[in-house]
Amino acid sequence: MMMCFKALVLLACTSGYAQTASQQKQNAQSYFNGEHLLLHIKTLSSDAFEGRQTGTKGGIKAKQYIIDQFEKLGVQPLGEGFEQEFSFTRRNKSYTAGNVLGLIKGTEFPESYIVISAHYDHLGIRKKEGQSDHIYNGADDDASGTSALFSFAEYFKNNPPKHSVILTAFDSEELGLKGSKYFVDHARVPLESIMVNLNMDMISRSDKKELYAVGTRYNAALKSLILNFKPAGNLKLLIGHDGEDGKQNWTGSSDHGSFHNKKIPFLYFGVEDHKDYHKASDHYENIHPEFYKDAVRLIISVFNELDAIQLKKG
Ligand SMILES: [Zn+2]
Repeated sequence: MMMCFKALVLLACTSGYAQTASQQKQNAQSYFNGEHLLLHIKTLSSDAFEGRQTGTKGGIKAKQYIIDQFEKLGVQPLGEGFEQEFSFTRRNKSYTAGNVLGLIKGTEFPESYIVISAHYDHLGIRKKEGQSDHIYNGADDDASGTSALFSFAEYFKNNPPKHSVILTAFDSEELGLKGSKYFVDHARVPLESIMVNLNMDMISRSDKKELYAVGTRYNAALKSLILNFKPAGNLKLLIGHDGEDGKQNWTGSSDHGSFHNKKIPFLYFGVEDHKDYHKASDHYENIHPEFYKDAVRLIISVFNELDAIQLKKG
């Protein structure tokens, strides 16, 4: 796998960067409908979804919302149905949970997969000490990544990918990456056929307009791709947070960690923790819509660079 990446990144480096920034921006704007993106994040982080905790009414409502959107957008189920149900026990509590797995068949390399993921669960309804119940809406964490899955699906309607794409909304990330662990342990495609995981978790706000791509430390080809990438829009793409720059190490901080544990290359897109992180105030009103749209465009552009790499087996 590593050898393929090394050999193939040259293709990406020599072919992918001829566009000017303005051309890139123009292309990016036609990628998906930004208003749809905002409507989805607003909906999923509304009180009606009750904070989307695993196994709760709100969590199940979110799961159904994702399945409905996938169906509307022409995404196929991966395997027999969209849902991958699983159960587990944590701190003496039993949970029934469900990932949502969609498939877009690749036009050139259908047996090779890029997994694009986000987690749809969040913290639910909690009592703050001495106060009444609060709904933890989890707009940035991670209604932002989940809604971006629909933008990818919109984009693929007009721009079918060369590699097959698995669009994955994981459950139970907040309970210890349970959904992604189950996904890699009970994979519906051979793990060797997964080329890379692009994970999105907290991509909708940044005071400094900074988005991190974590995981380049572990893969020279991905590092070269990100370092050479020129983002369109008003945001900075940074590498780091993967254990060698003295900053907090995010290698295992979200679902990409489960892929990393199986030696599958990953890029994790996310922002620095902010004042509303894991607070009841992680509301839709606190996201930065322009940054968010730029971030999703950027991630789709990175996807395109990866999709242009011809993965040869063996
Ligand atoms: Zn998260």
